[in-house]
Amino acid sequence: MAGILFLISAPSGSGKSSLVNRLRSLVENLEFSVSYTSRTPRGSEQEAREYHFISRDEFERMIHAGEFLEYADVFGNYYGTARQPINEAFAKGKDVLLDIDVQGASQVRNKMSDSVNIFLMPPSPDDLAYRLRSRSRAEGAVQEEIIRRRLAKAREEIENYREYGYILVNDILDRAVEEMAAIVAAERMSRNHGPSTRDDEELIAKAEKCRQRNSEVRIKPVLQAFGVVNAEATPV
Ligand code: ADP
Ligand code: 5GP
Repeated sequence: MAGILFLISAPSGSGKSSLVNRLRSLVENLEFSVSYTSRTPRGSEQEAREYHFISRDEFERMIHAGEFLEYADVFGNYYGTARQPINEAFAKGKDVLLDIDVQGASQVRNKMSDSVNIFLMPPSPDDLAYRLRSRSRAEGAVQEEIIRRRLAKAREEIENYREYGYILVNDILDRAVEEMAAIVAAERMSRNHGPSTRDDEELIAKAEKCRQRNSEVRIKPVLQAFGVVNAEATPV
């Protein structure tokens, strides 16, 4: 049986890398796809750990050779997911987690309709600005123009939350990590044996609470703070 493809999207600075890094040590048999990018490494980022850092020319060669499942231009740089490592992980019986922006997620959903889609939201624009500033400070200098652009982009991305079956709000990282692990476990159970213990049932209940249709009360203040209108959740 083919593995499960999990897609997670979030505005930059929401804490997606922090969440994914924590998940690595918690969840077995989940391969983390390492994307390709034409941007230069940031802070302590390492080749093949956060990204494969390649030139624009090399990226364009890979596009023309059809090597990407999806790619997008985000903040003026290319980002893309190569097909081969995903196929290899599935062949080994593993599931795969893609950390990818909303444009890329939509391209992948069109090709792989049974993917599990998760959107991570920051609790508010103020929290997001604070996190973006502290990360920039830790990596060198804070550039207010970049922060401003990322905040505006965050709002646009959050407008797409209805495309995602599950919504997480990263106010407390530990909680978001637990919820994400519960979603992975629940999706695996739903495709395999179903729950067999009380712990399994608790994981399923935790994941259910994160379904978009059950998250309305939790996400409403976030949507309002970002000025996203017409905020009724729709069943997915
Ligand atoms: P992303 O990968 O979404 O761009 P990061 O994981 O790099 O975001 O997180 C951005 C900043 O926010 C980092 O400094 C990180 O330590 C911090 N952060 C992440 N999650 C939380 C949280 N729940 N509460 C407070 N700070 C957080
Ligand atoms: P950052 O430069 O902050 O690491 O990432 C910027 C944005 O690019 C994030 O929204 C991230 O999800 C997105 N991104 C990272 N890898 C990929 C990818 O392979 N494909 C697409 N479409 N977006 C990606």
